[in-house]
Amino acid sequence: MIDLHTHTTFSDGELIPAELARRAAKAGYTGLAVTDHADQSNMYLIIENMLRFAAEAGPYLDLSLVVGVELTHVPPPLIPGLIAEARRAGAMLVVVHGETIVEPVLRGTNLAAIEGGADVLAHPGLITVEEARLAADKGVHLEITTRKGHSLCNGHVAAMARTCGARLVIDNDAHAPGDLVSGDMRRMVALGAGMTFDEHRRADQNAQEIMSRLLLKR
Ligand SMILES: [Zn+2]
Ligand SMILES: [Zn+2]
Repeated sequence: MIDLHTHTTFSDGELIPAELARRAAKAGYTGLAVTDHADQSNMYLIIENMLRFAAEAGPYLDLSLVVGVELTHVPPPLIPGLIAEARRAGAMLVVVHGETIVEPVLRGTNLAAIEGGADVLAHPGLITVEEARLAADKGVHLEITTRKGHSLCNGHVAAMARTCGARLVIDNDAHAPGDLVSGDMRRMVALGAGMTFDEHRRADQNAQEIMSRLLLKR
C-alpha cells in the first residue's frame, strides 16, 4: 500500500516525520509521501527540513519516503507558479488541496492545480467534466480519499474520472496514526465510491507507478 498524501507536525499532523514513517511501515505501507500543508510562508521550511530528514533517515526506514507538499488555500492565480517553485526547491511530489465541499476552498483551485500540472489533486469535491478532462490530458491524478468529510464526494470524483479517462489514486490524507487505514478499508472505500474491483486495482497501480518514477529520479 502507498499513501501519497500525509501530514506531520510541520503542519496539522499529530506525528513528527520519523514516527509517521514508522507507524505507516507497521500498518503495511511500503511507500509514503509526506505532503504538509504549504503556502508561500512555510513551503521552503518544510521542503528543506524534509529533504534533510529523507537524506539522513530515509535509508533506515522500512518504506520508501517521498518529500512533497500540499499547496493549501493558495489563491488560484498563484498556484501554477508555486507548483513550479516547490519543484525547484526539491519537492518530489506536489499535491494541491482541492475544492472539498467541507472547507471554503476558493473556486478555481481545481482548475489552477490541473493547469499548473500538480501530481495529485486532493479531494477535488464537485469537480467538473471540463476539469476532469483537462486532468486526464495533463496526467494530473484525482484523489479518492479515506478521510471523513472530504470523502463525501468520492462517488462523484470516481464517476468523473471514469467519464473523462482521468487517473485516480487512493490516499488517506493521514493526520494521525489511526488514519493509516488497512487494505480492507481502502478497498471498501473504493467500492463504496462506486469503483469496480478493476478500477480499485488500477488506482493502486497508479500510485505504484508514481512512486517508482520518483524513486528512479532520486
Ligand atoms: Zn490538514
Ligand atoms: Zn491533506
